[in-house]
Amino acid sequence: MSTYSQIRTEARTAWSFKLSDSWLEPLFVVLTLLGIGVDLLLVQIGATDALQLTVHLFTYVVGGYYAVRSIIAALRERTIEVDLLMVLAAMGAAYVNAWTEGAILLFLFSLSNVLQNYAMERTRKAISALLELRPDTVTARRDETLVELPVEEVQPGEVVVLRPGDRVPLDGTILRGSGNFDESALTGESMPVQKSEGMLVLAGTLNQNGALDVLVTKSANESTLARIIGMVSEAQARKARTQSFLDRFEQWYALGVIVAVALFIAIVPPLFGVRFADNFYNGMVLLTVASPCALVISVPAALLSAIANAARHGVLFKGGAHLEELSRVKVIAFDKTGTLTHARPEVTDVLPRPGVSAAELLAAVARAEMQSEHPIARAILVYAEEQGVQPEEPEQFEAVTGMGVRASWHGVETLVGAPRLFSHLGLTLPDELQAEFDRLGDEGRGTVLLVRRGALWLGIVTVMDRERPDAAEKLLELRKAGIERIVMLTGDNARVAEALGRRLGIDEVYAGLLPEDKLRIIGELGAKYGPTAMVGDGINDAPALAAASSSIAMGAAGTDAALETADIVLMRDDLGAIAYAVGLSKHTQRVVWQNIIFSLSVVLVLVVLTLTVGVKLPMGVVGHEGSTILVVLNGLRLLVRRG
Ligand code: ADP
Ligand code: MG
Repeated sequence: MSTYSQIRTEARTAWSFKLSDSWLEPLFVVLTLLGIGVDLLLVQIGATDALQLTVHLFTYVVGGYYAVRSIIAALRERTIEVDLLMVLAAMGAAYVNAWTEGAILLFLFSLSNVLQNYAMERTRKAISALLELRPDTVTARRDETLVELPVEEVQPGEVVVLRPGDRVPLDGTILRGSGNFDESALTGESMPVQKSEGMLVLAGTLNQNGALDVLVTKSANESTLARIIGMVSEAQARKARTQSFLDRFEQWYALGVIVAVALFIAIVPPLFGVRFADNFYNGMVLLTVASPCALVISVPAALLSAIANAARHGVLFKGGAHLEELSRVKVIAFDKTGTLTHARPEVTDVLPRPGVSAAELLAAVARAEMQSEHPIARAILVYAEEQGVQPEEPEQFEAVTGMGVRASWHGVETLVGAPRLFSHLGLTLPDELQAEFDRLGDEGRGTVLLVRRGALWLGIVTVMDRERPDAAEKLLELRKAGIERIVMLTGDNARVAEALGRRLGIDEVYAGLLPEDKLRIIGELGAKYGPTAMVGDGINDAPALAAASSSIAMGAAGTDAALETADIVLMRDDLGAIAYAVGLSKHTQRVVWQNIIFSLSVVLVLVVLTLTVGVKLPMGVVGHEGSTILVVLNGLRLLVRRG
């Protein structure tokens, strides 16, 4: 894996290359237009042929430079692009002395390319803006002295100092102090978030007013910011299905047009006894109007615009393909903990068994959960700290995904988890503990966890996660956006899950699931109702995320496994972003199809007209290239789309 600075240098070079290009190309377009103007003027005043030819050649060079460059690049890879058709048509026009028409063709064609590049640049910009967020140096606290260090040298476990107004250099948790954090650059959410001890802060966010000590949890190249930038850079390689189809189509179609036009030029004069020169002119019109420029340019322009729009709203699509997939989704399955509920549950009861003190129970649980990244573990550690319990590191730790944890010290193992953790390990619950478990479940005390150390049952701890206050409303928005079925998948117990499901108006609730059950149910939902999306945040969700036709990772603070598996990452921890993403993907799909149908119809009409009543070259050029520009502009609308 490349380091953060590598990623950054690469992105910077890619970006600065684009930058110098990005003003040269529009300049050439303007020069082409200028050439056309001067040309028309020269005709008016009856300038010499030599002068006119000079202007013609100049106009052709500036108008065709970028097209020829990309033709050569494409031919090196043994592919043909529409640019070739355009340049051939312009050369043909020059041959029949229709220089101006040829120049207009080159002008409009390069103009539509510039517009498409604009969309691409906006996408890059949205991403490279993220790169500038992280400071290069940090102030670390070492042995009570403050040292200034390059970000790259800071390892997890180090303590860094944040002053008011500092950007957070690395992901970490707050050790001391509190403050308001502006996370808008990462999440698009403009309201600052109040954060205090024990809470996670992300690299790239802005500390508005706190003086804090932060314990670094991830090195520079593993920070959420760095990983997301890496993922999105890769994303551009993943093309939408429509787009890869169009890329192949472009090849054959372009070749077909060249062959057809060549045949047309060669065969028609002898067969129908028309003059070669007249027919050649028609051949050039045909070459122009039959080119699929609009078709091949419009789709990437629309997809890139949509991806840039999404990035601004804190939703990262890892490629155009995922817009297309999300637009087809009919069913969305949600994980419960951390997705429908806040990722910060709270401890509600600590119930030691006779002969065990509450402090002893809590210390054992906290120590066992120390290395778990499950929200339950965080709840327990926060609670333990409030109670003044300072857990020590366990000697051995294992997370049993979807069941609980096992950790040991001095050869004695402590188990914390759901009843199935114990049955999984061949242990049977004492009857009274089982009765207590059922009672707490019935009372809706939240997730009930059993604790056992060595051969001794220590007691029960319950943890309650609160649903997001706006969850029901956001799910309703999803239905308005066209989602037909909403499903909950959870590893938690059925009572908690069903109560929540009823409150939120969820269609189907599946509880007590292991990660592989989630995976299986995603498959079943897909077979039953059609394309299914999965929304999750945990390691336990990763298999289901991978199996879903569209997968969404919740919040930039989700687990690495979820962030990496998902097609779409929500940077803001907000269910509303899902309805936005669904709406955007459908809108994009509509625009893509509008463009495809419109460009094909224009080609069809112009080709038929050329072959029947005949079309003059200027008309052909304007009709064809005009439609190209229209579809590109239609795609760019997605860039400015709101909400
Ligand atoms: P969800 O699907 O709701 O995100 P999980 O599949 O992560 O839930 O967990 C399912 C159940 O496994 C939890 O309700 C809990 O009983 C148990 N469990 C998972 N992780 C832990 C942990 N770190 N400590 C204790 N119990 C856990
Ligand atoms: Mg979860």
